[in-house]
Amino acid sequence: MKINLGVRLFLSYLLVIVVAVVVLAVAAQFALPGAYGRHLSMMEGMPASGEGMWTGMGGGRGQGQAAGDGNGLFSSFRTSFNEALVWAGLVTVLVALCVSFFVSRRLSSPIHAMTLASQRISEGHYDERVRSTGNDEVGHLASSFNRMAEKLEQTESMRRQLIGDVSHELRTPLTAIRGSMEGLIDGILPANIETFTQIHQEANRLSRLVDDLQELSRVEAGAFQMDLKPVPVSGVVDFAVKRFSRSFKSRGVTLTSDILTDLPLIMADEDRLGQVLLNLVGNALQYTPQGGKVTIHAEIHDHEMYVSVADTGVGIPGKFLPYIFDRFYRVDKSRSRQTGGGSGIGLTIAMHLIEAHGGRLWAESEGENRGSTFTFTIPLASG
Ligand code: ADP
Repeated sequence: MKINLGVRLFLSYLLVIVVAVVVLAVAAQFALPGAYGRHLSMMEGMPASGEGMWTGMGGGRGQGQAAGDGNGLFSSFRTSFNEALVWAGLVTVLVALCVSFFVSRRLSSPIHAMTLASQRISEGHYDERVRSTGNDEVGHLASSFNRMAEKLEQTESMRRQLIGDVSHELRTPLTAIRGSMEGLIDGILPANIETFTQIHQEANRLSRLVDDLQELSRVEAGAFQMDLKPVPVSGVVDFAVKRFSRSFKSRGVTLTSDILTDLPLIMADEDRLGQVLLNLVGNALQYTPQGGKVTIHAEIHDHEMYVSVADTGVGIPGKFLPYIFDRFYRVDKSRSRQTGGGSGIGLTIAMHLIEAHGGRLWAESEGENRGSTFTFTIPLASG
């Protein structure tokens, strides 16, 4: 059986009233006769005989005329007392009815509003909010309900944007592959090594994108193991330098690192940190023209190691700097694609990995063609 809040409140008030009336009546039954008799005898100079009075007129104890008058008086007093008790009970029940009505309205109307809002949200109306009034528990519940709705709205819009971005990123290489294949079938494109290389490049781009997406979903969900242990930063940097030395040589860009071997150990997952450094150094190479320079540097500030990758490349205009860590963000999409760039996911992954180490990652640039510096912090193993 469904009993609403107002009825429950009223029943609880009623219970309290009934208990109070019963206690009062029982107390009166035992205490009133004695008290009444005492007061009367004090007034008339008679011995107290209250209990006899309470038991009724002519209580069989052989009291005199005065006692008989006293009994009549007490009986009237008792009747008036009972009458007053009935009236008091009725008025209190009425007050309880009104109070329970107002209190239940005050409590149930925001709860009702939240029930309706949650139903609307579950139907996909993520912009639904409730009015948060008062500084009590119900007000706090309404505010946290609104915060939850806001978070849901953000998640939903990120989900929509992600689907849009992923389909857009998939469409470009797929269209290129389909166009080339149709050209080959129709005989418009020559079946030579160049055509096949082009198709192969687009297929590679597709598979890189799928790998990046998989990695992105893993790091965004925090679904990866971190094997944190004290490691020398020089080891991680050397690994990146060795890995890229040939590519740098062939592109005519100088790569130097001024990492000292006696720097204190950092608390890091070597593989994950290596992945971040490969991304930053790879980007530096990609966006630095021939004759440029890329430098890896490390220094210590306040129990943290600051590692920076600075290049003398194309730079990043200030207005784009806040967005480059957003997923799928590329400053110049066409340039990024022509130079064999990725899909704008690398820095997002790097940011998540650095944050998982308890560090920060940021970018600085003086502007277009004035180079960029990417810096991350990692806690020292000695804490
Ligand atoms: P991508 O795979 O496209 O390089 P990232 O997430 O690694 O994606 O980088 C996002 C964007 O930030 C790049 O498209 C590029 O526009 C910009 N960027 C990253 N590193 C550099 C750099 N060293 N110099 C200039 N621009 C950079």
